[in-house]
Amino acid sequence: MNLTLHLTEACNMDCAYCTRVKQPVRMTEAVLDAACDLAFSQGKTAGLCFFGGEPLLERPLIERAVARCKQISAETGKPVSYKMTTNGTLLDADFLSLAKREDIGIGLSFEGTAQDCCRTFRDGSGSFSVVSEKAKLLLDYQPDAHAMMTVAPQAVPQYAEAVRYLYDLGFRRITGTIAYGKKVHWTDSDLELLEAQLREIAAYYAERFLHGRPFYFSPFDAKIRDCITGFNPGERCHLGFRQMPVAPDGRIYACTQFIGDADFCLGDVFGGISKERQRELAKREAVPETCRECALRKRCTNSCGCLNRLETGNENTVSPLQCTYEQMLIAIADETADRLFTADEAAFRRRYAQG
Ligand code: SF4
Ligand code: SF4
Repeated sequence: MNLTLHLTEACNMDCAYCTRVKQPVRMTEAVLDAACDLAFSQGKTAGLCFFGGEPLLERPLIERAVARCKQISAETGKPVSYKMTTNGTLLDADFLSLAKREDIGIGLSFEGTAQDCCRTFRDGSGSFSVVSEKAKLLLDYQPDAHAMMTVAPQAVPQYAEAVRYLYDLGFRRITGTIAYGKKVHWTDSDLELLEAQLREIAAYYAERFLHGRPFYFSPFDAKIRDCITGFNPGERCHLGFRQMPVAPDGRIYACTQFIGDADFCLGDVFGGISKERQRELAKREAVPETCRECALRKRCTNSCGCLNRLETGNENTVSPLQCTYEQMLIAIADETADRLFTADEAAFRRRYAQG
């Protein structure tokens, strides 16, 4: 079973678009231990993602979880895998040695040269100079680490430059999403600029590919792969099934955006997950009414209940922002795929047809 452990609700940063309610609440050792046990209780493998707030504020909990899982894994023969999403400010050689030894895949929330537009410390100061040094250290230990960009309107003018910076730094896996939620306000001109920036990134992405130095950029890679290998609903995230968040108090929810909402609580780490609640939730999941006739509906993230809820308050209602963004991405990804396929069909097939 895959669980995302919200080790703390506290963070040492105060990003402009952050959707978390930050407070000094941490997971107890008893909840952590029970979560580790639960992860092994179902399925052939166990997966833990260390999350927050900022998970490295609770480093002893990570060390404890790894030690416990190692023991259970040895006893049960079930493999365990770990991931962590961090703002990177507290990374150091000691932790990175542990991460390397235990194979904890690290996703660094980092917007490159656009970092200081939104990602500030609590005193309002920028975090670029700190995180760029930590990013170099991370890449020394984990050359395949992810850089995870969240682009708010303020950062859009620097989006393409920031992607090039991250590539030059050494990241070959870059995820990119736009910022959503009540703190973020997209205007039509922001979206026009976003499209222009994505086109610039697409040109760079294609040029890297054609020079034999491709990189993964999630907005394009995901759309191109979905188109080539065919839509597989099983690969999509489904509320309350694939990756379930555990709140610091041990309650388990359908998805991160639903933490604290009793309507989406599936159980807790001590009593386990209610199958009946899972089935109820699965029944509520539907393609939004407005998308049923759309030709793009199978390539679009319209059914992401977490995102829909964040933007519209309802898990089955997609926002105009999301609709515009999805149409933009699919069009640019398809143009890019056409260009790459025409230029080098064999290389294109090797890269994308293998999923
Ligand atoms: S680092 Fe993450 S949790 Fe902390 S303020 Fe930024 S977005 Fe929120
Ligand atoms: S592009 Fe818009 S209308 Fe079409 S499936 Fe996506 S959200 Fe729905």
